[in-house]
Amino acid sequence: MRQLRRFLPLLLLLVCSVALATTLSSDQRYCPVCGESIAVQLPMSTNDMGGQDRDLLQRAHGAQVFMEVVATCGQCGFTGWPADFSETKRSKRRGGSGEEADALALTKDQRQAIEGGALLRPEALSDVPFRAEAPYGDLPSWGRLDMLAQTVALRGGEQDRVADIYLQASWAVRMGYHPVHLRGADPSEAQRDWLFGRLAEFTEQATDLQMTNPADVEVWVAVRLLTGAEQAPGDLRCLSAAYGASLMRSHGEHDALLASFDVLGECFPAAEWPGKAQAIRESVALERRYQGLARDGFVAALEAGDLTGEKVAITTYLVGELERRMGEHDAALAHFDHALTLTVPDGLDPWIEQQRCLLGQDDPVLALLLCRGRASGGNGGVAPAGEP
Ligand SMILES: [Zn+2]
Repeated sequence: MRQLRRFLPLLLLLVCSVALATTLSSDQRYCPVCGESIAVQLPMSTNDMGGQDRDLLQRAHGAQVFMEVVATCGQCGFTGWPADFSETKRSKRRGGSGEEADALALTKDQRQAIEGGALLRPEALSDVPFRAEAPYGDLPSWGRLDMLAQTVALRGGEQDRVADIYLQASWAVRMGYHPVHLRGADPSEAQRDWLFGRLAEFTEQATDLQMTNPADVEVWVAVRLLTGAEQAPGDLRCLSAAYGASLMRSHGEHDALLASFDVLGECFPAAEWPGKAQAIRESVALERRYQGLARDGFVAALEAGDLTGEKVAITTYLVGELERRMGEHDAALAHFDHALTLTVPDGLDPWIEQQRCLLGQDDPVLALLLCRGRASGGNGGVAPAGEP
């Protein structure tokens, strides 16, 4: 039981993800462009119990606020945070006085551009039904964040601000893709007992390695499940691989996820696996698409000298990390190296070194085992890329 309690948070995330520690309240607002009525979500409370992924995603247990609070007008596509929407209905639905819109810092030109269809419904939405009466309705959170980036850009937002929204869109793909699809039927009681034992063992290892970031702990557990899958007896091999791959997907460690396909492919019926594999690849491609848009915006902001102070070092590191996640290791190495020449905030140095260590290695799962297996938080010099 003591063991069970130790890794209960991990299990909650793994098994059900229903720890609704984030609370939201619904409110009725009106679009500042076309006056359409729209329900928005106001954050009442949240938490950071899920730790932080290395591309700076701060993870909450339960709902993620950044995925919930952005709203899109189903009629015209205007997208914003709750404060961007009006609390009172405009007197005229279209072509009104514009006073409220002006108060919300929308110019007449911007309003007309949006009404003229300047905001584009995101690609890759074939699974979202198109309704002529609400062409921008029913978007998933990453689709609304895509629309938000377009809206903020149209309103003259700075490029690093737009890039930051595209980064959030990539996070929304990661958090919105339900990795439970990777797993097969519910495990039997004996299988579950075996899995719990492994999770306890690997969580304890992470503690011994001084990992205090819950996101790092989960990636470590994923690494151990995948590297241990080969040795797992019988049907436990697939259980180990599927849970490890699910965790890799939920943390956006795509190279390691895709490397697990050899084992996973043998774990599903021949008629089932190609469809699953394709769905996973598409979700990875979508996350990488938004990482690419974020990277481009951050690079442009850095080159334009728009950023100052610690933001320069943090953004330089982040660009490298996005490139690593997109498989562009040479570019990532250049940005990590550059970041190491800058004044970085406390805690970022070990991250840069560990992420740099991951580059250029043949096996992405073993790379995580090697580079994260060193005690976290230390500052023991820069590991050359590819160092064994
Ligand atoms: Zn509207």
